[in-house]
Amino acid sequence: MINLYNTLARKKQTFKPLRGKNVGIYTCGPTVYNFAHLGNLRTYIFEDILRRVLKYNSYKVKQIMNITDVEDKIIKKAQQEKKNINQITKPYAKIFLEDLKKLSIEKAEKYPLATKHIKEMIALISGLIKKGIAYKGEDGSIYFNIQKFKNYGKLSQLQKREIKIGARVSADEYNKEQAQDFVLWKTKKLNEPFWKSPFGDGRPGWHIECSAMAMKYLGKTFDIHAGGVDLIFPHHENEIAQSEAATGKKFVNYWLHGEHLLVNNEKMSKSLGNIYTLRDLEQKNFNPLAFRYLVLTSHYRSKLNFTWESLQAAQNALNNLHNEMIIINADKKSASISENQRKLAYEKQFLDAINDDLNTPKAIALVRKIVKDKNLSSNAKKSLVLKLDKALGLGLKNVKSEKIPLKIKQMADERDKLRANKQFIPADLLRKKIEELGYIVEDTAAGPKILRK
Ligand SMILES: [Zn+2]
Repeated sequence: MINLYNTLARKKQTFKPLRGKNVGIYTCGPTVYNFAHLGNLRTYIFEDILRRVLKYNSYKVKQIMNITDVEDKIIKKAQQEKKNINQITKPYAKIFLEDLKKLSIEKAEKYPLATKHIKEMIALISGLIKKGIAYKGEDGSIYFNIQKFKNYGKLSQLQKREIKIGARVSADEYNKEQAQDFVLWKTKKLNEPFWKSPFGDGRPGWHIECSAMAMKYLGKTFDIHAGGVDLIFPHHENEIAQSEAATGKKFVNYWLHGEHLLVNNEKMSKSLGNIYTLRDLEQKNFNPLAFRYLVLTSHYRSKLNFTWESLQAAQNALNNLHNEMIIINADKKSASISENQRKLAYEKQFLDAINDDLNTPKAIALVRKIVKDKNLSSNAKKSLVLKLDKALGLGLKNVKSEKIPLKIKQMADERDKLRANKQFIPADLLRKKIEELGYIVEDTAAGPKILRK
């Protein structure tokens, strides 16, 4: 049983999918005119945990993540650089997918491009016009009349906003304090890309693309829609309005939102110069997975404060975990009954944590406890941790087990025997010899471990 915090209900609910073991997820993707910043990446890591946890619970996941390749900011950048929008979006879309891979984010089932789904968006808008919910403004653009959709505001709690009746906004992103009619189709402007439509040449607004692509690939009603908290209003509110007004059906059952990432306790902004990307981390020789580790140490619904110190601490913790995975004295004996019971108990605790609204801080703490548990053999630890890491994605299975030469192992065993007989001087000599051969012996609670120097 998985419990997830549903923004729509403002509480945790037991997850019940619509179609048996199949789960449909839509996650809002990037607007590709720049590198993704750490705040964006935090959201994608949270969504990756969501899909991994569902898969860990034996669900079959179909995740759709759109790539926004036509939008106000893209057009502005293309104009500034005297390029067409493709020349801006293509390279950034490629880099985006590379970033996801570096963070061990599993591939979504599909990454549809907005510009390849104009036909679907036009059909959706046409339906809304026919129903009298969308109208043409005096500027020639098509707007959604929020007064015509009685549930407008059910996700974002409309009463907290000023409702500006009759006012309309043509920008994709607008004042979060004001609710007003929003644009579905923007009429053609000089030097802007455009498509033909029954309601005039122009281009789609940002909100309509997600409705069109989500319903195309996941159906009129689907299980989960996720994104960052900043998307709740207006973007997700508008997605609900457009979709439900068009179909008369509930659009999404569970809405999940990840919190902001702060840098030194401040919001990332251009003026503060604290907008970091994965490249900034790599330039300082951090493993991108250290950032993933840092993200998982806080719950996705809590704000996460990023500092270079916290990243360093995460890198150290991850290194320790990786080192623990280089199991040297892997014992051959099969696991004992009590050991198996111990493993099962850990598995249950782990499942309880991740199924409780994706409690990754608890899950990570448990993994750290397991690797230190001296009542588990190395083999048992390794198989257990690798299993749990399927849900966490810390790349532990890619940690290469060192092949330690037999001679070194024998020397280490000999040293262990000497130590057991309190013959510390010859034991120490043996340790030095091992070091000369390029290995170090560490005495851990679970017995001696050999590592490459
Ligand atoms: Zn979206």
